[in-house]
Amino acid sequence: MDSTEKQDRRERAKERREKRRQEISLIRSIPYSDHQRWWSAETIAVVTGANRGIGFEIAHQLGLHGLTVVLTSRETAVGEEAAKVLQEGGLNVVFHQLDVLDQESIDSFCAWIKENYGGIDILINNAGFNHNIGSENSVEFAEKVISTNYVGTKNMIKATIPLMRPNAAGARIVTVSSRLGRLNGRKNRISDDEVRHQLEDVDSLSEELIDATVNKFLEQVKDGTWTSGGWPQNNTDYSLSKLAVNAYTRLVARDLADRPEGEKIYINCYCPGWVKTAMTGWAGQVTPEEGADTAVWLSLLPDMRVSGKFFAERREIHF
Ligand code: NDP
Repeated sequence: MDSTEKQDRRERAKERREKRRQEISLIRSIPYSDHQRWWSAETIAVVTGANRGIGFEIAHQLGLHGLTVVLTSRETAVGEEAAKVLQEGGLNVVFHQLDVLDQESIDSFCAWIKENYGGIDILINNAGFNHNIGSENSVEFAEKVISTNYVGTKNMIKATIPLMRPNAAGARIVTVSSRLGRLNGRKNRISDDEVRHQLEDVDSLSEELIDATVNKFLEQVKDGTWTSGGWPQNNTDYSLSKLAVNAYTRLVARDLADRPEGEKIYINCYCPGWVKTAMTGWAGQVTPEEGADTAVWLSLLPDMRVSGKFFAERREIHF
């Protein structure tokens, strides 16, 4: 493809993005009708890493829809401050400390939830970390990236599944992932076809396989061989952490699929787009408000039946 064709393609993609942004902005202005609103002020939504960025906006929008939002943050002072902003706006938001990498913090959070609310209806796994900004590709913090994004998300899913309250509309888990973690992305993917096929096959997918994949990468980071390991070339540690999150979403959806009506738990992940937050050095294309939208939409979908899928801009996309 020559450079003019590339330029045209980029222009067309930009136009499509802009059109979709406008469509969503229009759809968002239409309120949910009474028969669509399966939730109430007693519906409990927990958001991780909600002291700033996309997580804060998800908490904000769920609060505007009238749910009780548990805004969590690993640092108490900043979390309380963030919750206060939303409370002062009249929203039903409570704060609790939660570090998704600290099992003691998770346990005490879950005990508090049980005692105060009996359980939860919606979990948003938003907490995340990326060291690189732009086209940098340092793996200096690979362990922290993989553990925050993948292990932290896994910790929260495991801890909260037993807390999910029975509900005719189904409980929901939504994880903020990224298109960078696509298994079959055009440009940024694991080069080994066999590894990709293994991770794609949901029937044989296992936590051990996903763990082994990320651990192999971390070992190669330690011994300095990761650059020739066939890993995604762009934001390698981060891309792999989100690839693991996506695979884990499909795995958990498979394992939860047999739950009876009334006790269903739907689990999905989504890409918020390239968002202007601290993580991107505020260099993204969309606002946190727009980046939060698909999480809120998935959390509230009336007649929810979809699980184990990947979304962006309120549409399903390929893993
Ligand atoms: P921010 O850096 O603004 O927010 C990240 C949040 O995660 C912060 O609140 C941070 O807390 C929290 N966090 C980090 N580690 C932990 C932990 N161990 N326990 C609890 N909370 C933790 O970034 P964004 O808002 O942009 O990112 C939110 C999510 O969106 C992430 O999962 C990210 O990967 C994803 N995403 C973002 C994109 C973007 O373009 N911005 C694109 C695709 C996905 P603290 O303030 O204490 O550090």
